[in-house]
Amino acid sequence: MPDLDYKGRVLRLQRLMSEAGVGVTMLSVGADLPYFTGYEAMATERLTMLVVPVVGEPIMFIPELEAPRVASDRLEVVAWGETEDPIALVAKAASGSEQITIGDHTWSVFLTALLRELPGVTWAPASTLTKHLRMRKEGPEIVALRSAAHAVDRVLARVPDEVAFAGRTESEIADDLLRMTTGEGHQIAQFAIVASGPNGASPHHSPGDRIVGPGDLIICDFGGFFDGYCSDVTRTFSVGEPSGEQIEVHSVVAAANETARAMVAPGVPCEEVDRAARKVIENAGYGDRFIHRTGHGIGLEVHEHPYLVEGNQLPLEPGMTFSIEPGIYLPGRFGVRIEDIVACSESGIDELNQADRSLVVVG
Ligand code: ZN
Ligand code: ZN
Repeated sequence: MPDLDYKGRVLRLQRLMSEAGVGVTMLSVGADLPYFTGYEAMATERLTMLVVPVVGEPIMFIPELEAPRVASDRLEVVAWGETEDPIALVAKAASGSEQITIGDHTWSVFLTALLRELPGVTWAPASTLTKHLRMRKEGPEIVALRSAAHAVDRVLARVPDEVAFAGRTESEIADDLLRMTTGEGHQIAQFAIVASGPNGASPHHSPGDRIVGPGDLIICDFGGFFDGYCSDVTRTFSVGEPSGEQIEVHSVVAAANETARAMVAPGVPCEEVDRAARKVIENAGYGDRFIHRTGHGIGLEVHEHPYLVEGNQLPLEPGMTFSIEPGIYLPGRFGVRIEDIVACSESGIDELNQADRSLVVVG
């Protein structure tokens, strides 16, 4: 993880809490906790919970056997033993607060117990506050996201020479992409969608046993974690020479991607970027085949705020990082998606992914 100012982030959260009338924020599993502390909770039946009061030092409640994992010089840690009730400890630390926000990914077994322990409290997801901080990246976060993007760009540059497509299954190709992603410096290769031929019409296809052959377009969408930050990139390849229709659909998606990237600048509402990409695809007659939003924020999580979708009027700001990933999906036939991670900068766009966007022919 990059060297980050966790104390400053907690102070900024406390300022947001104060403005919203929130007395306590509770953070357990999920990306908010590492954002504010550098520590990621283990997702188990033993509760880890950071209790952040609106004023004063946060306290981390953690199972005794996991306490050695935490750098306690940075945090006040309460290690609870196997026979103690961590819910009672957390509830006591939060007592007196009328409004509490709690991490979005907190397990319901803990949340429902807290609801019983703390009657009369108004609860809200912590993201209502934390998104305002997390979606505006600091310099070291942009550095990490750029490194992640460049690493998967290097994988893509190697694909035509090093990955055999024809005669192999989607799963085998996905394994190659995952192996190359860690080979290029990712600590974790998190996912690889390899969607061939008609499977390309399913945007979140799970790679399977289909054998890839000539005439297939292949959507390769993959990424992982690099220094704690996510990569997520998509290119569409052609196995052998593409048909005229495949070339045309690919060129429409490439134009939508380029048009959306050209829109990125401070002050532009998120939905305007989506509209710009959608307009290109609609004008080409494929409007009803672009079946998802244009993009999602990215950072500690592969999908986070801001979302580039109709209805989101949030203006882009320098430091926001997100995907631009228009696609066209033709059921029973093929699909095309081209995805890049970009940052909004003071002057417009900062393109983190720069890999070749053309329809590359592979064998
Ligand atoms: Zn994406
Ligand atoms: Zn993706």
